[in-house]
Amino acid sequence: MHRCSIVEASESVVEGDGLWTTSPGLRIGLRVADCVPVLLAGPLMDGTPWVAALHAGWRGATGHGDPKPGGGILRRGVALYRTLGGVPGDLVWAFGPAILACHFEVGEEVIEAARQDPAWQESLRTQGPSTRSHLDLHGFLRAQALDLGLDSARDGSVALCTVCRPDLLYSYRRGETTGRQWGWIEIG
Ligand SMILES: [Zn+2]
Repeated sequence: MHRCSIVEASESVVEGDGLWTTSPGLRIGLRVADCVPVLLAGPLMDGTPWVAALHAGWRGATGHGDPKPGGGILRRGVALYRTLGGVPGDLVWAFGPAILACHFEVGEEVIEAARQDPAWQESLRTQGPSTRSHLDLHGFLRAQALDLGLDSARDGSVALCTVCRPDLLYSYRRGETTGRQWGWIEIG
């Protein structure tokens, strides 16, 4: 299930499409192959550090199929941070390795779902060698991030493609089931 529920992490919660915590030393993470691991860190109103780890495949990034309005998981995560007293421009953020536009061939229903987002730009869609559409999921999330008021100077993303770099990374689309990447974040 790749949906948009974001829950506060505790010692016992290990699964979620999005996890957040303000507990120092509680390491939260997510396991991904081709989806985008999104990490956020910033202070709350009283200065308490807050961190979140979100799992953004195309469904998570668009919010497609989620019964609750509010857009994709990044929009929900930043909205939650605001609710807790955070200022989006204070967030340090990073998108980890994922299947990038060079290899992310998608159906038109995926493009249609992404188009529902106010930050969508047609340049995020390109045409691959098979004439099917390719989606720039990193670019799509970045457009949302900037739309949400995140600071481009605080972007620590790693734009490596999981399909292009079998020497470094696991990929589901390459047909392997051997492993996944982990994205971790922790308040030190
Ligand atoms: Zn690639």
